[in-house]
Amino acid sequence: MSNPTNSPTHALYADAHPPLTPAQALVEADRCYFCHDAPCVEACPTGIDVPRFIRGIATGNLRGAAITILEENIFGGTCARVCPTEVLCEHACVRNAEEDRPIRIGALQRHATDWLMDRDPMPFVRAAPAPGRVAIVGAGPAGLSCAHRLALLGHDVLVFEAKPKPGGLNEYGIAAYKMADDFAQREVAFILSVGGIEVEYDCRLGEDITLAELRRDHDAVFLACGQAGVRALALEGEALPGVVDAVSFIATLRQVADPAGIPVGRRVVVIGGGNTAIDAAVQATLLGAEDVTIAYRRGPDTMSATAKEQAWARGHGVRILHWARPAALVETNGAIAGVMFQHARTGEHFTLAADMVLKAVGQILVPEPAEGVAVAAARIMVDADGRTSLPGVYAGGDCTPGLDLTVQAVQDGKRAAEAIHRDLSGVI
Ligand SMILES: Cc1cc2nc3c(=O)[nH]c(=O)nc-3n(C[C@H](O)[C@H](O)[C@H](O)COP(=O)(O)OP(=O)(O)OC[C@H]3O[C@@H](n4cnc5c(N)ncnc54)[C@H](O)[C@@H]3O)c2cc1C
Ligand code: SF4
Repeated sequence: MSNPTNSPTHALYADAHPPLTPAQALVEADRCYFCHDAPCVEACPTGIDVPRFIRGIATGNLRGAAITILEENIFGGTCARVCPTEVLCEHACVRNAEEDRPIRIGALQRHATDWLMDRDPMPFVRAAPAPGRVAIVGAGPAGLSCAHRLALLGHDVLVFEAKPKPGGLNEYGIAAYKMADDFAQREVAFILSVGGIEVEYDCRLGEDITLAELRRDHDAVFLACGQAGVRALALEGEALPGVVDAVSFIATLRQVADPAGIPVGRRVVVIGGGNTAIDAAVQATLLGAEDVTIAYRRGPDTMSATAKEQAWARGHGVRILHWARPAALVETNGAIAGVMFQHARTGEHFTLAADMVLKAVGQILVPEPAEGVAVAAARIMVDADGRTSLPGVYAGGDCTPGLDLTVQAVQDGKRAAEAIHRDLSGVI
């Protein structure tokens, strides 16, 4: 199940933010006020008791600190690496007001979870067997968070995953430099070590199995299939050589041992304004592209990539253009040669030369496999506990409305597992 891969010596795969040393972690933990009604807890979608885990670090109880994190967020290791903490817990930290410098909650979270995962087995023990067979579609953060919580509550769980490896976008989407040293697979192995979770790979809902079959053979089904489709630019020439979907570009980089053979343009234009655009652009520069521009159709305030992420891209030499709406793809000799844009405010047209265009304009739900489930605005509709319009069918993560972030997917999975457990306890 491990990556073949990802040479640690290539800049693409080197850890973007090296971990804190034990001394640095102690100094940082000592800065925390251990606030009562701490705003950082409120700001965490999974509700981790931040002051409690930081106190654990400050008092040398790293195991206790890690357990505090993992009991709310079993993907605490990934979230410590990829969460946009600058708009979540660290944004809410009261120390911003005093020193303009929050506690480095993400880095401390990584310190504690890495400590535990490097040393100890799974710290949680499953409850006595509970009635009800549960099927989960998708082994990403939402699916595996749900599976882990259900396993802890005593259920046996069968996960159906379309890809040959688990982890969802942790494995195939998020940039390698955020998930160095095969962390996605190490974390999944840790999560599955709780027991009671079986994963069937290369098994796609809608092709190899149907929702009707899952409902027939199980007491509950959790849909956690993310957004498997890619939005189009809706411009002529999208099939030209050199016009590439950014998520597939990143997925390929994540799965090779040596990126030397991966084609990258000399002049790359990335169209989009989110995480995918940032990650694709930075990875293109690390692969050797000479000139990389992110073109976004609105202003800086509506970019879903945070200011910190935009600064990270600029720090790698990426230029970010705002108000640039793609108007046409320019072709020369059957290949991409540039993109013509219209300035969204002035209406002026201008063209950027490009021998590679990376499309990062968003993913979209492929609704067909979820036959019969109510869908609106390309998301599966759910109540506050993740119940869909079909009895016994639940959903969470990117395929449902809400923040498209790993931490939100984890929370959705956890919350749905608790609802499934309650519903099954009442029914069976
Ligand atoms: C390039 C990129 C970078 C990102 N960077 C960040 C970041 O830095 N920080 C952050 O917080 N978030 C980031 N995100 C968002 C984050 O990755 C997602 O919000 C999160 O992975 C959603 O989890 P999920 O389990 O809902 O879906 P996914 O992670 O997409 O997992 C869905 C799983 O379902 C499987 N599946 C799909 N269809 C089927 C089917 N029909 N049958 C069976 N299995 C199926 C898929 O193969 C996949 O394994 C990024 C996203 C992208 C695309
Ligand atoms: S808000 Fe900041 S200082 Fe207060 S408990 Fe949270 S991390 Fe510590």
